Amino acid sequence: MTFELRCKPYTLELRHRFTLANSSRTTTPTLLIELERDGIVGYGEAAMPPYLGETHASAQAFLERIELARIDAEFDAAAVLAAVDAIAPGNAAAKAAFDIALHDWLGKRSGQPHWQRLGLDPRAVPPTSFTIGIGEPDDVGARAAAAAAEFAVLKIKLGGSGDRAMIAAIRNATAIPIRVDVNQGWTDREHALREIEWLAARGVELVEQPMPATQIDDLAWLRQQSPLPIVADEAVQRLADVARAAGVYDGINIKLMKCTGLLEAHAMMTAARDRGLRIMLGCMTETSCAIAAACQLASLADWADLDGALLVANDPFEPLPFEDGRVLPTDRPGIGVAPRDNTRDVTAGSP
Ligand SMILES: [Mg+2]
Repeated sequence: MTFELRCKPYTLELRHRFTLANSSRTTTPTLLIELERDGIVGYGEAAMPPYLGETHASAQAFLERIELARIDAEFDAAAVLAAVDAIAPGNAAAKAAFDIALHDWLGKRSGQPHWQRLGLDPRAVPPTSFTIGIGEPDDVGARAAAAAAEFAVLKIKLGGSGDRAMIAAIRNATAIPIRVDVNQGWTDREHALREIEWLAARGVELVEQPMPATQIDDLAWLRQQSPLPIVADEAVQRLADVARAAGVYDGINIKLMKCTGLLEAHAMMTAARDRGLRIMLGCMTETSCAIAAACQLASLADWADLDGALLVANDPFEPLPFEDGRVLPTDRPGIGVAPRDNTRDVTAGSP
């Protein structure tokens, strides 16, 4: 039997306007997919924040180019995914959707969660940060206070003009640890160092992509001076980028939607460890489908940032277990996710 692939364009509605150093939005387009063969359905998802350049149409067009009829009964997943990757450059989220669905299908066929197939301990997942976008200090402070009741660590987006006012408002509201993500928002390294030193005195534990990924020499200098770990996000997309991050950053943020999925994310984690880089496992705003996939690998991360589905108001999947500030994988086979409405087919109905 041949695999059958179904796609449904879906628009994620965010609980709060999500403002970063260089963008602001209230929705995220995602493509939900199902990969079916032998009565087994694998779920996948391509979440596509607009600044990454993929769309419903581009992802669907890419997935239609996969020659499903050529995947035989004894297929090797790595070989299939390498062939998918070779169809065209880019399209990382579309490739991730297929990778996730294929791993879900394989896990369901074997009756095991993906984490079990990899021999991982699902209880070793670190607490997830909860993300708060750029906003007015009073609003950010109130949201931080509310989040501190449920989460062990916050991730605050910086790089606007009111960074210190936001952090001060948060510190008035709660003492829990903060990670900051500048999304390349600082361009002067001396300014970046002053900000990081100020943040270090206020319970901030790491700084994500403080300067543009292209300013490699400035970032390497900043890392030498910084009292806090510097983590790459925009600078590291795929496996080949990991080696280049060593010596410039202390750690890397791996996201399924950047790196084409679980197979490559796992390889990146191994490569990062080999080079002494620490690992953040992150996400986009996405449904519990892609988050469930990432959770399969989360026990290998030093830092988890897997709150994407918690920022979404219309998640079509059942929420994942959330215990002690940790988003956990389930014990179900594959990626262990189930549609919220209890109907099997999330791609049914009109888009
Ligand atoms: Mg980031």
